[in-house]
Amino acid sequence: MRLILLGPPGAGKGTQAQRLVAKYGIVQLSTGDMLRASIGAGTPTGRQVADIMARGALVPDDVVVGIVAERIEQPDARKGFILDGFPRTVAQAVALDRMLAKHGLSLDAVIELRVDEAALLRRIESRIAEMKARGEPLRDDDNPETLHRRLTAFREQTAPLIAYYRLQGILRSVDGMASIPEVTAAIDKALPSEPPASRRDTAPKRAGMAASAGRQAAGVGKKSVKPAPTRRKMASRRKAPSGKRRRQGGRPAPLA
Ligand code: ADP
Repeated sequence: MRLILLGPPGAGKGTQAQRLVAKYGIVQLSTGDMLRASIGAGTPTGRQVADIMARGALVPDDVVVGIVAERIEQPDARKGFILDGFPRTVAQAVALDRMLAKHGLSLDAVIELRVDEAALLRRIESRIAEMKARGEPLRDDDNPETLHRRLTAFREQTAPLIAYYRLQGILRSVDGMASIPEVTAAIDKALPSEPPASRRDTAPKRAGMAASAGRQAAGVGKKSVKPAPTRRKMASRRKAPSGKRRRQGGRPAPLA
């Protein structure tokens, strides 16, 4: 099972991803977590992205695409994965399609967590306040001002992916404002019902089917879809002698 969770910050992607991990035995790949790990480890990538992330802006496409490309090739991702926080731009989505196609893989579904932005802001702001009150550590970008910027980045750069995946026919939209168990149940319902293994590695087959559907729509190779007239012709040829008999026996033969 290969999934994407799509939704603005605070929509509950992380929570739902954890539940899907447990249910399907697949890995959760959160680009936010990976980038924070790079910052924590002081890698060159970490140094490059720290300021960008603290501002609530998106890090460059090539940085995240590189990280994801490397990550999905790890053995633990072979069974499947949930991408949380990636792709966030159309360029990233196109890069992901290419990387999967290279391995003969495809996505099973893209789950969109639909939320009301005003309610979402209130939800995250109260979550931040509660964490502060409990003395829990906050992320650098967990403050109301940066949050607004993260939401704007989602609206402007990530929301176009909804149309992108709807066109691919794999978008499943779920009400992200419902309770956690309700959202989980809605995701369960929205996911392909076949067991994950049977859908594995079907990209080339599906691409072939799409191509042949396209060829049919374009009317290419029409000869091969005309068996009926040919069969009828053969049948009438076979019937010819009996017709002759009928004419000879039942009705008077036409005068010569
Ligand atoms: P949230 O969904 O709560 O905003 P994330 O942990 O997914 O949090 O991301 C935090 C920050 O990491 C983003 O604001 C952005 O700066 C950076 N980031 C994560 N994933 C991507 C991505 N795919 N493309 C660009 N920037 C990203």
